[in-house]
Amino acid sequence: MHMEKLVRQTLSVKDHRVVSLKETAGSLEVELEVLRRRRLPCCGCGKRCSVRDRLPLRRWHHVSLWGIPVTLCYRPCRVVCPCCGTVVEAIPWSQGKSPLSVPLIVLLATWSRLLAVDAVAHLFGVHWNTVYAAVKGAVAYGLEHREKGTVLHIGVDEISRRKGHTYLTQVYDLDRKVLLWSGEGRTEETLNRFFAEYGSAHLKQVTAVCCDIGTHMPSAYRRVAGSAAGL
Ligand SMILES: [Zn+2]
Repeated sequence: MHMEKLVRQTLSVKDHRVVSLKETAGSLEVELEVLRRRRLPCCGCGKRCSVRDRLPLRRWHHVSLWGIPVTLCYRPCRVVCPCCGTVVEAIPWSQGKSPLSVPLIVLLATWSRLLAVDAVAHLFGVHWNTVYAAVKGAVAYGLEHREKGTVLHIGVDEISRRKGHTYLTQVYDLDRKVLLWSGEGRTEETLNRFFAEYGSAHLKQVTAVCCDIGTHMPSAYRRVAGSAAGL
């Protein structure tokens, strides 16, 4: 298998091709180009639209190949979308303005669930800031694409960090066994932020709340209890 084809397959791209793969100062530079006459997906709604023009060259740090750093180089297209106007194409390997490719974000964030940020940085030969940015990117992606659905049973708990000087309030969906929300603090205002950010439309069906916290947020509890009672 040619290297170009290998890189293209690992990126799962259909509208782009690898033009060249150069070794520069100990790293691999992969130049990508859009396939000719392709209508490209809009980054806003995903609808395929005609290309208007190109933006300046961008670079993304990608997953290393046999320990060799890999950089992706590409000039993003702007498309004319009837719904969103003139916007950037949805680039499959890019997430917002992050300088990291999506596969690298996923890899670093996955390892960060098992190891400390410093250890992941050492393992992959990157700065800890890069790992931190990857984790932030993965969390942002997860929040943006999470399946909210209807919540029936909520669990509220608090955890402490930094030797007990900082508290976080955690809200769980007890049926799906997933963390719905986490916010700094353990006051009524903290829980109110959960209601505001998560959206009352997804919480109307709540029928039971399980919690094990002190008495510092009674009215927020009443709000939950009121929702559970259909008030
Ligand atoms: Zn659009």
